[in-house]
Amino acid sequence: MANIGYIQVVRHCNHFCGFCSNPTTPYVHTFDTMKVLVDDFVERGYFGIILTGGEPTLHPELPVICRYARDQGLHVRMITNGWRLADPAFAREMAAAGLQHVHISVYSHRPEVEERLRGVAKTLDKAFAAVDNASAVGIAVNINCVINKLNCDHLHETIDYWIAHHPAVRHFVWNNLDPSMGRAEVNQGQFLHRLADFEWSLAMACQRLAATGRTFRVEKVPLCYMTDFAWASTETRKIVKGEERIVHFLDDKQTVRQTTWGHLYAEACRVCRLQPICGGLFDRGNGYDPTELTPVFVDLEPIVRQIIEDPADPSYSLRDFATWHANFEGRKAEARVDAEREKASQYREAEKKLTIGHVTSESLRLFEKKRRVEGMAAARTGVALERDEIVRQALQAGEAGDAASET
Ligand code: SF4
Repeated sequence: MANIGYIQVVRHCNHFCGFCSNPTTPYVHTFDTMKVLVDDFVERGYFGIILTGGEPTLHPELPVICRYARDQGLHVRMITNGWRLADPAFAREMAAAGLQHVHISVYSHRPEVEERLRGVAKTLDKAFAAVDNASAVGIAVNINCVINKLNCDHLHETIDYWIAHHPAVRHFVWNNLDPSMGRAEVNQGQFLHRLADFEWSLAMACQRLAATGRTFRVEKVPLCYMTDFAWASTETRKIVKGEERIVHFLDDKQTVRQTTWGHLYAEACRVCRLQPICGGLFDRGNGYDPTELTPVFVDLEPIVRQIIEDPADPSYSLRDFATWHANFEGRKAEARVDAEREKASQYREAEKKLTIGHVTSESLRLFEKKRRVEGMAAARTGVALERDEIVRQALQAGEAGDAASET
């Protein structure tokens, strides 16, 4: 299994996306606090890590932690808005540090839409320069795109643009907006769409990529909204292959280890043939409407086969459907036992506890300064800042950190 872990290396950013689900916190990482996390992924036998944020390129020790992770044998990726990679010297530095793969996020090829979503001007030019610079130094480039209310009607046109102007980009990832956290939670009215709003455009976009030999993945979209391309659902692929994911959040959530991929299932899902391999509706934040789900009456075997027989993913070993099916049923039974263990509070306590980053008086001071700057950006763009609760939590974390450092 090719498990990949996530490390949020910073939580501040040089853009101001109105639907950011991981906005600024006062937690900070040093090389030493990140090294512990890399070592843990190595110990768990993970294939690789993804350095993310906030905007990870704003961490001054990013090349050092990248090099360290590579030296431990991990595959190293990064998710970025591309602003700093627009500088060819920085792209060369990251390639020399061992970065193998970068996911550059671009929401729309229309400059006015991109600018509105980013809260900052001229980001599109920088992202295109980042694509070219990363490719030029041998870093593989994927494009990440958050599906939202302002781009959901022209996802396919943006793909046409990539194919025509940046033919070297071969892989694309869509993430359906997470309405549960950060600014996304409080700006749902501006940025959250209905599922039906993107269905046609996403299908067109997938068809164009498939027809031109490109690859793609789609995250947090129920299979009834991408039935023809169900094999490309990241949740479905993880359910089928039994993968887990660990995210080290640089906030109060700290470490989240995810081993199950189902979200909300509606009444309609009870009769749906794809339910066993579908992640359902990403319900967090109550942003999406369960009545939009409709059961699908197709056989799941061809979808599973497409995933387990994928020649581009040799990491999964059970490549025969009957063997997979027996293993899948066994995993489901195990998951039920694990759920009962968790209820009895024994299982979670056995999990290793890691401390993710720390809060210092200096990081608190910078956090408060950043909040003031973001307050001005919010007023300028008409976007609401995330709930104040984060400030209260930050102050509590700071007090706890101060107390710990005094002992
Ligand atoms: S009806 Fe439910 S189980 Fe079926 S594809 Fe839609 S979300 Fe998935």
